[in-house]
Amino acid sequence: MTTIDWHAKAAALKIDGRALIDGQRVWALDEATFESVSPVDGRKLADVARCQAADVDRAVLSARAAFEDRRWAGMAPRERKRILIRFADLVMENREELALLETLDMGKPISASMSTDAPATANTLRWYGEAIDKVYDEIAPTADDTLALITREPIGVVAAVVPWNYPLLMASWKIAPALAAGNSVILKPSEKSPLTALRLGELALAAGIPPGVLNVVPGFGPEAGSPLALHMDVDCIAFTGSTGVGKKIRVMAGQSNLKRAWCELGGKSPNIVFADCHDLDRAIEAAAGSIFYNQGESCNAPSRLLVERSIRDEFVEKLKKYSPQYMPGDPLDPNTKMGALVDATQMQTVLGYIESGKKEGARLCCGGQQVRTETGGYYVSPTIFDQVTNDMTIASEEIFGPVLSIITFDTQEEAIRIANATNYGLAAAVWTRDISRAHRVARALRAGTVHVNSYDEDDITVPFGGFKQSGNGRDKSLHALEKYTELKTTWIRLA
Ligand code: NAP
Ligand code: MG
Repeated sequence: MTTIDWHAKAAALKIDGRALIDGQRVWALDEATFESVSPVDGRKLADVARCQAADVDRAVLSARAAFEDRRWAGMAPRERKRILIRFADLVMENREELALLETLDMGKPISASMSTDAPATANTLRWYGEAIDKVYDEIAPTADDTLALITREPIGVVAAVVPWNYPLLMASWKIAPALAAGNSVILKPSEKSPLTALRLGELALAAGIPPGVLNVVPGFGPEAGSPLALHMDVDCIAFTGSTGVGKKIRVMAGQSNLKRAWCELGGKSPNIVFADCHDLDRAIEAAAGSIFYNQGESCNAPSRLLVERSIRDEFVEKLKKYSPQYMPGDPLDPNTKMGALVDATQMQTVLGYIESGKKEGARLCCGGQQVRTETGGYYVSPTIFDQVTNDMTIASEEIFGPVLSIITFDTQEEAIRIANATNYGLAAAVWTRDISRAHRVARALRAGTVHVNSYDEDDITVPFGGFKQSGNGRDKSLHALEKYTELKTTWIRLA
């Protein structure tokens, strides 16, 4: 990878900003566009189709027609499998281009897009492709003179509205199970990072997914996202994004046709370190690595670090030593570990939270500033606050930036109480050598994922999603198929 000249590749890149509707690359009907800007250096990358309600209507019409004539839903699962695996292969064949687009569009280090985002996207497509001809339906244990078949059917037209922090991967978590189950899909990427979704749509076509089965409509949330959420002919909306917008999505679903609305939302995840942790160095490394990975723009980032008082000073001192490793660098340099925040707005939001932390009395241990201003991009240094209390703004609101809040506790009960004192419930972790404590605390934590003596485990085989206001429904694993299918019971009376 070190041999690739990413800057030269970036200079030579040809970007097509048109939407993908009914198998065609098209501009918006009114020809409106918006600029895709790179947070790496503030440079314009491309003009992108600014889709609105009329374009969404075209996409829904095309998806509906594709669903009704069963060009995809009617294929044998093993055929859909073959095509999805081909799609995954194409993602890997085009991995460098996809990784480069992702890094330029949203600022994450090229090492991450190359080693994680692009291959994990391919893996998701492959996994659901491989799974879909291995899931069986059921026969109910009814009386002797009847037969009751319980089958799963595709739900129809699925809208996937996704965020900018993992544009490829979040898109794949929605489209892979939805397509595998036989649905038609309309993907709406974030206006902040639309480029890889458009390329993904093109690769789907090339793989043999029939026209109209996967449409991609870039545009702004209120202009392209809301018409999908309100549409009378969309059967399901699968949303990943902020809790505030997630609430609106469910209202819009209720206001229109009661479409199924699945919302994967934000988090404020606690990472609890007890004094009896057997490997403090590993806990410290994971605490830093998980909050600074992806510039802190991860829904499950452990942004609240709860440390037992007796080890607090040692922990904070050692943790600070990790921060230089994560000083933002050029996202196109393969050695960079932290890149740019997605745009100027997000950077100002993060800097605003840092100011609130200082004002509310937390102690700034390191970072807290915009850096690399000479690049024209949007970079913030890795920031650690100590002496945080759980009622401070930086401990209660999702910052979505490289900012860690350290809270001290004295007892196990207090740790659990603080950890659960949040509107969110996406992820959590506990570090201890005591197996009973590990189980007790893991059970008490109200979160969709709990890590014990780790933070970074991840696999497509396990469900991902949240308790409380972190949302409903689960991405990944076979459980995701439940979101994109309806259960049907067919009674057969035996003569
Ligand atoms: P966001 O502002 O809620 O946007 C998410 C998507 O919704 C974008 O495509 C956005 O479009 C669109 N949108 C915005 N307003 C809309 C509206 N009124 N109607 C319909 N659609 C609308 O979230 P974000 O800032 O992109 O993403 C960060 C959030 O996602 C964080 O809270 C993070 O925790 C969460 N997240 C959760 C998970 C999970 O699995 N639980 C995973 C990743 C991220 P535009 O951007 O074009 O306006
Ligand atoms: Mg961008």
